[in-house]
Amino acid sequence: MRRAPRQFAVEDCNGYTVCFGAETADGETSRMRHSQYELDHEDRILAVNEPWSAFARENDAEHLVRGVIGTTVWDWVAGPEVRHLYRLLFSRVREVQGSTTVPFRCDSPSVRRFMELEVCALPDDGLLCTAMLKRAEQRDPVPLLNPHVPRSETLLRVCSWCKRVPTDDGDWLEIEQAITALHLVEEVPPAISHTICDRCEALFGDS
Ligand SMILES: [Zn+2]
Repeated sequence: MRRAPRQFAVEDCNGYTVCFGAETADGETSRMRHSQYELDHEDRILAVNEPWSAFARENDAEHLVRGVIGTTVWDWVAGPEVRHLYRLLFSRVREVQGSTTVPFRCDSPSVRRFMELEVCALPDDGLLCTAMLKRAEQRDPVPLLNPHVPRSETLLRVCSWCKRVPTDDGDWLEIEQAITALHLVEEVPPAISHTICDRCEALFGDS
């Protein structure tokens, strides 16, 4: 039996609602390539492109196509640390009137997605943001990343950018390693709290 396409929105993805992906019945990723949105000088969303809109429509989320236009991008970014990094990124691109690309992860429970976000300066201090899927790897589903799975009272910190999890020793583990190391396998998954690891913070030159 074919499953309906499933939607992955921001909470799973960098705390970033404007980055969408779909998983098809075959587990393929689609609609992730070159999803774009354009911002004005005050970070209001002026436009989203067709791949972005098509995905929303496929998932009965027509309201998202119209609903985001005119809102600011900050309405869709979760977590002060993540917002801070986006602000750094945006201000750097505007300052140099160029473009920059940073890698990030946008995983679903059963797919590791290795993505890049390209931010380009536009006239009048606008920005064009493009999310590109570089590589996808299938894996056994990770309930921890399924937003519909019930949660315990515990909070687990996860880097919003690379999806790694900190240990008490100060290491950062890939999510599957962390599930084993922190004995999360047989328990009700903890709630996720967004943070940023040192490695990802360094990507933004925030010293
Ligand atoms: Zn990270």
